[in-house]
Amino acid sequence: MGVIRVLSPVVASQIAAGEVVQRPASVVKELVENAVDAGATKVDLVVKDAGRTLIQVTDDGCGMDTDDAQHCFARHATSKISSADDLFRLQTKGFRGEALASIASIAHVELHTRPADSELGTHLLMEGAECKLNESCSCAKGTTFRVRNLFFNVPARRNFLKSDNVEFSHILDEFLRIVLATPEVAFTLYHNDKQIYDLPKSGLKQRIINVYGKSYNEKLLPLQQESQIVRMEGFIGKPEAARKTKGEQFLFVNRRYFRHPYFHHAITSALEEVLPAEHHPTYFIYFEIDPSKIDVNIHPTKIEVKFQEEKLIYPFLRAAVRHTVGMFNISSNIDFDNVSPLDFSMVPTGGVPKQPGISYNPNYNPFDPKTYAKSAPKPYEEKPSPFRPQVSDAWQQIYETLKENTTQAEEAEEVQLALPGTENPDENPEQNLAQPSLFQWENAYIVTCGASGLLLIDQEAASERVLYERFLRQMERKEPAPVQQLLFPESVNLSPQDAETVKDLLKEFKGMGFDMEPFGRHVLVVRGVPADLLDQPVQQVLEQMMEAYKCNLVSMKWGRKNNLACSMARTMCVKKGKVLSSIEMQEIVRQLSLCGTPAVSPSGGKVFLQFSPAEVQKLFNERQKI
Ligand code: ADP
Ligand code: MG
Repeated sequence: MGVIRVLSPVVASQIAAGEVVQRPASVVKELVENAVDAGATKVDLVVKDAGRTLIQVTDDGCGMDTDDAQHCFARHATSKISSADDLFRLQTKGFRGEALASIASIAHVELHTRPADSELGTHLLMEGAECKLNESCSCAKGTTFRVRNLFFNVPARRNFLKSDNVEFSHILDEFLRIVLATPEVAFTLYHNDKQIYDLPKSGLKQRIINVYGKSYNEKLLPLQQESQIVRMEGFIGKPEAARKTKGEQFLFVNRRYFRHPYFHHAITSALEEVLPAEHHPTYFIYFEIDPSKIDVNIHPTKIEVKFQEEKLIYPFLRAAVRHTVGMFNISSNIDFDNVSPLDFSMVPTGGVPKQPGISYNPNYNPFDPKTYAKSAPKPYEEKPSPFRPQVSDAWQQIYETLKENTTQAEEAEEVQLALPGTENPDENPEQNLAQPSLFQWENAYIVTCGASGLLLIDQEAASERVLYERFLRQMERKEPAPVQQLLFPESVNLSPQDAETVKDLLKEFKGMGFDMEPFGRHVLVVRGVPADLLDQPVQQVLEQMMEAYKCNLVSMKWGRKNNLACSMARTMCVKKGKVLSSIEMQEIVRQLSLCGTPAVSPSGGKVFLQFSPAEVQKLFNERQKI
């Protein structure tokens, strides 16, 4: 007996649906794209439980008459092409006529739709591709799709869905890809009855600012280039605003988002010389090209696009990016001779815009005993605390040695101050002996010795460890966080996503000494900051922290407190290159010796290297053999 069977149409369409609808975000993409294709001027997206319970898209576009409303759920039903040739003239986002058929086969779909020229609309209910209701109704011009119980008949898919947070962030990705391509359409997004975005119709730059926050106004450099093959327009993030997480990198062609590793390379290589190491550029670049010169049909969700002339576009794109950055005089490293002559028409009249300055205190150091003493209610070791981590014996010894040495050193310093004319240490051999056994090497390491040998301490990792444990204790209310009230409350602008995260973490932030509250969707009003932070720009600190927080979310499976403490420690630690006074070095070593896990930094790096006398001797012996 043969084993081959032809699948029933229902099963076949469920399998086909899997290609188009992988998760709630896919439904959002297809419905919102359809709304834009229908010529809407306003699109409202309502999502419940990251799309598991409801995805609703309302538009004021062309609507459908009763016949079309029924037809739109049939496979290969599309109003957008009628012959294969049409594929090469596409101006719309959809064309395969697959999306609604797929969605209807794996969810409960309700449709209300009415074209402008008819008085009555159509109301349809579909369940697993079967039409359960078809009636006339009165409704607004345009279309509303409600998708409920996604994957109700495909439990395997339903079980594969990730947490609401993850699924909602996919929804945001898809939503933003469309929103950033069509600034002339107004959009709103609600999740669980909370408004996440309200984006009025606007220009492109304003749309980016409305999405990512006001601070983008100063971060974007305009790019505009035209050749016979392609026109490109958009914005490059200023190199100094670059981030360590791959954030906002958007390519669009004829208003469709696409990924293109080769073009991405053109952009990053153009910025190579001006971007700090391990930082990713921000870009929003819009290509306009004759639709017959690209193929969008190579991928079921159309995320990859093939360009016929990509080899020609690559150097053109690269030059345009270099030109944009060079024109705004960001760096003199760029070799202008190799940049082709370009049209300067987009320079604002009145010359090159002035770069906004960022003010911060370059000497800021949370280990400066002056700052620390001012902020801490009591020196740490005097405060009896049952939560104080156990100090290992070896560290206790190191600490004791250090304490002895430093007291001597402090006394010696005082003597020196009191006796002018004794600056030359050679004149006073005794004083030389009293120098602390602790010095900084390469502005990056503290060299010292303890009971078990020579120690090479990484100042960045050590201070990160110390701060991390301090912030954790503060968040758990085991140690008070000294708060410095600001004379004038400061408002901080964040992207709505970052603002949401901060709002969720307000309690933890408060533990660390931030006194702040949300004000609208993007803005936080900050009334007090951790005393250590007094001289730092709050906006910048919060941005950097959120950046580190997002990085950690990707790279580590941490609880929110650990992640937040780690992000704050990362932001505030003493970086390599910072010159430390001997008191500051002592303070780092002292506090490190009190840590629970002094040997590793919160991000997993080694804090110090240790060499016992025997190991050092071995190294010398090895040399002798040569
Ligand atoms: P495609 O977008 O590839 O044509 P879809 O399955 O997404 O296929 O949609 C099928 C058809 O349904 C579309 O071609 C369009 O005619 C119609 N349609 C879908 N959504 C809307 C809408 N929001 N407003 C008006 N017509 C719509
Ligand atoms: Mg479509």
